[in-house]
Amino acid sequence: EQDVSEYKKSLAIRVSGFDASRPIKTFEDCGFSAELMKAIAKQAYEKPTPIQCQALPIVLSGRDAIGIAKTGSGKTASFVLPMIVHIMDQPELGKEEGPIGVVCAPTRELAHQIYLEAKKFAKAHGIRVSAVYGGISKLDQFKELKAGCEIVVATPGRLIDMIKMKALTMLRATYLVLDEADRMFDLGFEPQIRSIVGQIRPDRQTLLFSATMPRKVEKLAREILTDPVRITVGEVG
Ligand code: ADP
Ligand code: MG
Repeated sequence: EQDVSEYKKSLAIRVSGFDASRPIKTFEDCGFSAELMKAIAKQAYEKPTPIQCQALPIVLSGRDAIGIAKTGSGKTASFVLPMIVHIMDQPELGKEEGPIGVVCAPTRELAHQIYLEAKKFAKAHGIRVSAVYGGISKLDQFKELKAGCEIVVATPGRLIDMIKMKALTMLRATYLVLDEADRMFDLGFEPQIRSIVGQIRPDRQTLLFSATMPRKVEKLAREILTDPVRITVGEVG
């Protein structure tokens, strides 16, 4: 158990005032900052994809969510954009150490893709993103994390290594994303995921994305998400 009581008082975990019950139709409906809207326009994202229409208001409202949709449906932006809003909402931004947003993905390729997507939008607000996965020197990664960041995109094994090396702590983390959860289970990352989740305060916002929901993933979701909204788009197992 970490002592987060002091810090907790100053945290705005829930992004207030957003109506989670109605899907949005345009990015303008999301109440994003002008800077973020510019970054979205730069990506030539004209309108939100179906999963984004459903997921954005729910995630922006602060609720936990399970997103089930096939590859290529635009899941990344549906958790990255609200993550930027969540981070900008923290009143003590810059005072504490460690990432606020933590994204876990099964492979370095996937983690790298999310890292690139997150960077495009994080840049709009000077938010720092670090990528943590195998194939990069541990020392370089250690140094980068020590310099500080607000978002970490990681594969579970390497993230655990970095936590053990004290390159970062999960003390400030309040927004957790498990992307491609089914693949993380297939690759045997369940113990690492549980260890990471166990280090993040329980009143965090948690999002789980998966192409399929096998029983083991369903069980994990029941254990680590709080009253999640389930979003299913398209025909998926
Ligand atoms: P998923 O994680 O569901 O497999 P991605 O988030 O990787 O999908 O998105 C797939 C592709 O669609 C990416 O190239 C991404 O840049 C693009 N994309 C995402 N959202 C939009 C949007 N609203 N409009 C146009 N393209 C988008
Ligand atoms: Mg994806």
